[in-house]
Amino acid sequence: NALVNIRLNEHLNAFTNLQKEEVILSEAKKAQERAFKRELKHALDGRLIAIKDNIATIDLPTTCASYMLKDYQSPFDATVVERLRDKGAIVVGKTNMDEFGMGSHSTFSPFGPVSKPGTTPLESLAYSAGGSSGGSAAAVAAGMCDIALGTDTGGSVRLPASYCGLVGFKPSYGMLSRWGVVAYANSLDTVGIIANHSNDVKAVWKVLNFPDKLDPTCVETGTRMRVGRMIEDFHRVRRDTRKDGRFRIGVPMEYNVEEMAEGTRKLWDATLEYLAQWGCEIVPISLPHTRHALPAYYILAPAEASSNLARYDGIRYGTRHEQDRDGETLFAPTRAAGFGDEVRRRILLGTYSLSSEAMGNYFVQAQKVRRLVQKDFDSVFAMPNGLDCDGETKWEDRPWNSKGVDVIVCPTALGESPKLEDVNKMSQTERYAGDVLTVPASLAGLPAVSMPVSKKVGMQVIGQWGDEKGMWEVAVMLE
Ligand code: GLN
Repeated sequence: NALVNIRLNEHLNAFTNLQKEEVILSEAKKAQERAFKRELKHALDGRLIAIKDNIATIDLPTTCASYMLKDYQSPFDATVVERLRDKGAIVVGKTNMDEFGMGSHSTFSPFGPVSKPGTTPLESLAYSAGGSSGGSAAAVAAGMCDIALGTDTGGSVRLPASYCGLVGFKPSYGMLSRWGVVAYANSLDTVGIIANHSNDVKAVWKVLNFPDKLDPTCVETGTRMRVGRMIEDFHRVRRDTRKDGRFRIGVPMEYNVEEMAEGTRKLWDATLEYLAQWGCEIVPISLPHTRHALPAYYILAPAEASSNLARYDGIRYGTRHEQDRDGETLFAPTRAAGFGDEVRRRILLGTYSLSSEAMGNYFVQAQKVRRLVQKDFDSVFAMPNGLDCDGETKWEDRPWNSKGVDVIVCPTALGESPKLEDVNKMSQTERYAGDVLTVPASLAGLPAVSMPVSKKVGMQVIGQWGDEKGMWEVAVMLE
């Protein structure tokens, strides 16, 4: 069925490169034989998985939807891909995206824009699938695969999931290995998971949630165990001491921005009412630095990107331009021809904000804002942040904030998916503004999942760092 869907929905542009049909079929046959023989079958055995094209695969190119890497073939699988294949998952192809993950509508791609699957072919061409993991969301929504991996730096998994009516999960920063994931902004990049149902997302999460020596930012066993123990304790006490073990849900006032569509606001209200019926306690909270999170993100992400993308010079990496031969012009023509406009814009922005004259006013200020955003979250959660290391007392010894909340619930996007023709008319700042609700959790490295409370708008459940447990418990109430 997936193969038929792929053929029928070619116009969606969800993939950059597809696995050969005979390979998919033979893998599927092997999985079927395993099931038939009743060998112990893993939940992911034989499941079809699509991989965003900035995650390395040994059998398919990894282009990052950039002309610069159009012929790049990785000599290894990313750790996340390797672990999925180990469990019998079948990689159907690499999904289209905004070049290097920079964008929110998957329109900045030399493979053409991704469209959101609709009920009619015309509708299918009209709307944005979101970005930058738009191809991953479109592939799942159109039934071309069961589950897809994406990456989320500032909302790139949650936003497409919201637009396409899917579950989109961004884990706590550092939980999933980034080995083999092409860097956009390392301090923010996470691998995310998209599927129709939370069960599939959780099944993948379970397989991938391990330390990896190859990625120094992947949290090691000791920290996982210490934080995990605190979280277990916390939820045990919550169940034992609160009436019906009820969850306390934070509703950040500052997220109720003027630009939010009326429909989204109503849906937010309805979601909170529904959670209250489940016995949750709804608590208004304040995250005062929210307003500054978006500008800080758009300083930090391009700054890191400008440094990361320096490696594409046609010598170490990248498609070398034919004029790139003499010492005078070395790699200028290559970079001019290899990168799209948005990537060039970000490199310029990032290079500027890191320059000695601008550093203090931009990069350093943005780092300070990032810290304040993190502190905002830490001040509202009941549980301390297991990564917090700058207080006097160790976090393990700090008392739980008895007035604090367990998770935060807010919309993922300001509104429904826009028409692609309207996206094309948007200014840069309008495009960036669409990330306002997803970026704060990214700056703080918190786990967040977008749940499809309607087919067109998702609600985010955001947890304290490492508390995927609490986040999922509330999220599944919305399924
Ligand atoms: N839209 C945001 C950006 O362009 C987020 C992208 C992402 O999460 N990869 O940077």
